[in-house]
This record gives sequence, structure tokens and C-alpha cells, in this order.
Amino acid sequence: MEILKFNGICKYFGDVKALDNISFGVKKGEWVSIMGPSGSGKSTLVNILSLMDSPTKGEFLLGGDDASSLNEAQILEFRRKKIGLVFQQFHLIPYLNAIENVMLNQYYHSCVDEKSAKSALERVGLAHRLAHRPSELSGGEQQRLCIARALINEPDIIIADEPTGNLDEANEAVILELFKGLRAEGKSLILVTHNEELGKYADKIVRLRHGKLDKIEVLNEI
Ligand code: ADP
Repeated sequence: MEILKFNGICKYFGDVKALDNISFGVKKGEWVSIMGPSGSGKSTLVNILSLMDSPTKGEFLLGGDDASSLNEAQILEFRRKKIGLVFQQFHLIPYLNAIENVMLNQYYHSCVDEKSAKSALERVGLAHRLAHRPSELSGGEQQRLCIARALINEPDIIIADEPTGNLDEANEAVILELFKGLRAEGKSLILVTHNEELGKYADKIVRLRHGKLDKIEVLNEI
């Protein structure tokens, strides 16, 4: 069953067709890579998928419900409970340490729980960095902290936008292993990347070109 579905999604900014008639679905436990050159519409697509923006035209289904029928409160609830976001620019709070950054996301979701925040950080290999602030962490560690933060509320869907864009190969390999583990747990993963090596671990690659769907490559039928 598809937990997210785009049917003929378009997004226009004036004359610019950032997305033009895009259709694809994401199933439970499926890893979908979104690939395409700069300016092909990837960020616009992520903004719509994560309910930060709405399409100009087309239908966006969330678990069978039309996203356009949700009110503000329902959109907020969906974003907090169902989606975990991982960005290339980490968006960590500089004056909070690692465990506090994770707990802040718990706070917005429901209530804080230091024990589970600690175990989320252990899971990404940061047990020895709980009291470090972002500036005291390496790039790879900051990205792992972002993943712990995204996972803390047990989202069904992880959306990662160029998560290894600034990282070296060793750190990229660590992130790749984490993503493989998430898929094995039945999470759906949407990964935006320029990196063909990383992208090909997907079950499906959605390729964009000038805002249009170039092709969908199915690598592994779910
Ligand atoms: P990508 O993430 O693949 O680099 P984007 O989704 O950022 O591509 O952009 C797709 C196209 O839409 C580009 O031509 C970009 O200039 C345009 N675009 C994106 N956001 C806006 C905006 N807010 N206003 C005007 N044009 C935009």
C-alpha cells in the first residue's frame, strides 16, 4: 500500500514550472531516491512531500487522504508524528548540546524522555557525545545527530535532502548503514541525492529533469 502518492503534481512559481505533472508513489518500507540535476525540482518536491508547501495543481495523497483536505492542525500533527526530516544544512540549535537537540524534538511532539533520547544517540554511535554542542561535533557527527533527532518520534517516513552532501566517504558509509537499517525496520525513506552510488541503494529511483518526470527506475519490487 502506498503511504504517499503524487498524482499529476504541478508547482508553478510565476512562469517557472518547478514541477510539471509529477506522479509516483511511496510504499511502506520502500526506499525511494529522488535524483536530478540542480534546478530540476528536487527541493520543491521535498517541500510538498513534507507539507511545507502545497502544489499548484494535482493530487497529493497521504495514506489515502487528500492533503488539500487537511486543516492546519492536521498538517502540523502529520508533520510531527509521521515525518522525520534530515537536511544537508543540519539546522541544529547551536546553544543546546546533542541530547538537548534531540529532546527539543520530543518536546514539540509530546513530552521529553531523556532515556529514549540517549538511546537514539547511542543508535547513531554518539553515546560518547551527549553533552557536546554542535560546534564541538564533526560534520559526520552532526549529521548523525540530525538522524537521531529525526528518528526520536518514531516517524513512518524519513525524508532526507542531500544528507551526505558535505560528508567524506567514511561518514557517508555510516549514514548509508543507518538508512539500510531503517528500511529493514519497515520505515519508508525518501532520499534526495546527487550521488549515484548512494541513490542506487533505493528500491526505486525517481529521476527529474527540468521539473518533469524523466523516468522511474524500479530496482527492487516492494
Ligand atoms: P533543485 O532542488 O533540483 O535544485 P528546485 O526545486 O530548487 O530544484 O528549483 C526548481 C526550479 O524552480 C528552479 O528553476 C528554481 O529557480 C525555481 N524555484 C524554486 N523555488 C522558487 C521560488 N520560491 N520562487 C521562484 N522560483 C523558484
